[in-house]
Amino acid sequence: MRRVYFDHNATTPVLPAAAASARDFLDGLFGNPSSLHWAGRAVRPYVDEARSQVARLIGANPSEIVFTSGATEADNQAIKGAAYALAGKGNHLVTTRVEHPAVLSTFAYLEGKGYRVTYLGVDGNGLVDPDEVRRAIRKETILVSVIHANNETGTVQPVKEIGAIARSAGVLFHSDMVQDLGKISVDVDDLCVDLAAFSGHKVYAPKGVGALYVREGIEIDNLMHGGHQEMGRRAGTENMVGIVAFGRACVAALDDMEEEASKAEFLRKRLLEGIMALVPDVRLNGDPARRLPNTLNLSFQYVEAESLLIALDLAGIAVSAGSACSSGSTEPSHVLLAMGIDPLVCQGAIRISLGRENNEEDVEYALEAIPRAVGRLRDMSPLFRRP
Ligand code: PLP
Repeated sequence: MRRVYFDHNATTPVLPAAAASARDFLDGLFGNPSSLHWAGRAVRPYVDEARSQVARLIGANPSEIVFTSGATEADNQAIKGAAYALAGKGNHLVTTRVEHPAVLSTFAYLEGKGYRVTYLGVDGNGLVDPDEVRRAIRKETILVSVIHANNETGTVQPVKEIGAIARSAGVLFHSDMVQDLGKISVDVDDLCVDLAAFSGHKVYAPKGVGALYVREGIEIDNLMHGGHQEMGRRAGTENMVGIVAFGRACVAALDDMEEEASKAEFLRKRLLEGIMALVPDVRLNGDPARRLPNTLNLSFQYVEAESLLIALDLAGIAVSAGSACSSGSTEPSHVLLAMGIDPLVCQGAIRISLGRENNEEDVEYALEAIPRAVGRLRDMSPLFRRP
């Protein structure tokens, strides 16, 4: 049976070049980069090189990159680190209802510690209004956090405008930019971002590595305490395999971004047009224009997304349902609910996220499998009446 992987926003296969660059660290280069002797000296330059490679992809200086275990840690360190460091200045934080759980749960945790959080809503396309950010900022506000590209819908927020508003109000601005890497160009300076989170496994590096961007001159508290790794900002011996592969994957992301983005956009449009032509009662979720080139989020009415996911899996096609990025949750997506979509329609939402290995044959195969699977499920649904 053909296998088609359409879940690249959940994770990506490791790029062969990234795996090759990391292999020496499983087999030979074992030194601890903090060691002063020959074994440590042999590996240290690789950490520096990877730092420069990640920095180049996002328009940062290498000294502004802190390697972490992933974006969950980077989001936690950015938000808690800023909240703790600035507790003397204020206790109010601003975020949105459409953040990834790595951000939302961190804010919920801080609320439990006495911080005040304003959660901004979004419009029907999932967009935050920058004016609402402006209105939410008050004297005690210390941080604004807004996701750049939404992992579920692909909607891209007006982060540049929001960053400028935060900056002119003297408030730190954090953005979860996990889904941007390799899909759209990112320049942290241009976007007025002070803190940003990135993940290796969304950009064809292995799982368990990520990066926190901290703008030069900004001091936040550490999450991890211990050794002096990462210029004293993240204790713990470096994950050499992950870091080296992440750096190499960022080089490929930069080299191939234009070509990959236009291929993904072409395939996504073909898929959307095909589905809309073949299946009635489908809703495109997210902004039709301001979106990632690779991401489609579609609600198939009268169908349970989990049943559709299983039916497509049986046909060899991997997609995701609802907000099931990590948890396999069957709750309706908080992102779609925040967009004002009827909970019943949310229940029928699947996310298709394209990536490097996908091609036109994958799309044509999906255009046979999806209408067939939806048709069968609707035949069984008491809610669906054939026209
Ligand atoms: N933020 C976003 C937008 C994501 O899509 C993910 C991935 O699930 C994360 C954060 C968490 O990243 P990680 O798996 O590296 O902890």
